[in-house]
Amino acid sequence: MKKLSLVFLGAPGAGKGTQATKICEKYNIPHISTGDILRANIKAGTPLGLQAKAIIDKGQLVPDEVVIGLMKDRLAQEDCQKGYLLDGFPRTIEQAKALDTFENVSMAINIAVNEDEVVERIAGRRMCTCGESYHISTYKADTCAKCGAKLYQRDDDKPETVKARLEVYNKQTAPLIEYYGNKNILYTVDGSQDINDVYASIVKVINDNN
Ligand code: AMP
Repeated sequence: MKKLSLVFLGAPGAGKGTQATKICEKYNIPHISTGDILRANIKAGTPLGLQAKAIIDKGQLVPDEVVIGLMKDRLAQEDCQKGYLLDGFPRTIEQAKALDTFENVSMAINIAVNEDEVVERIAGRRMCTCGESYHISTYKADTCAKCGAKLYQRDDDKPETVKARLEVYNKQTAPLIEYYGNKNILYTVDGSQDINDVYASIVKVINDNN
């Protein structure tokens, strides 16, 4: 198999993070989520975190140059040399073009879910600082099954911010579907299926095409 340089596309709540965790485990590649990196910076109170918090809480995007610099450094690290999965980056055409200057993306996998469903999923999403996420309809405990920490709702998962995030997605991120389609490296899976079926669809796409 060639170097797996994967990009996950999909609206907020489509299941990118959940699937990324499973796919990275299977193919033994690092899961690189710009959202997780930014949230870790917020938690640690770094200058980047302070800058990012106000933007994230409004459902807007952190400036391109900030995330591009962050990802350029991250992708240059040793653990990325055999492949990686990008979750939440690129999120604009500008970011995708920048990524093309320092990396060769092998596949962009779009996890397609309709908007009503993502709204419902986000409303019930509960997170753990270890990266796990759950939905209140299927998980009733308030602590993480993996690490035992207390679960929380992301500030930007509250309804007033979700609307802004979906608008930003439709305007700034959805055009990436065409961008990668034009490069003939776009693969779409039906993200409305059960988690294990979405996972199986992604594995099939990767094994058939890489
Ligand atoms: P996520 O966890 O991917 O939903 O990201 C949470 C928030 O972090 C987004 O709503 C943005 O405010 C910010 N963010 C994450 N990735 C990016 C990116 N590639 N470009 C700009 N902002 C980002």
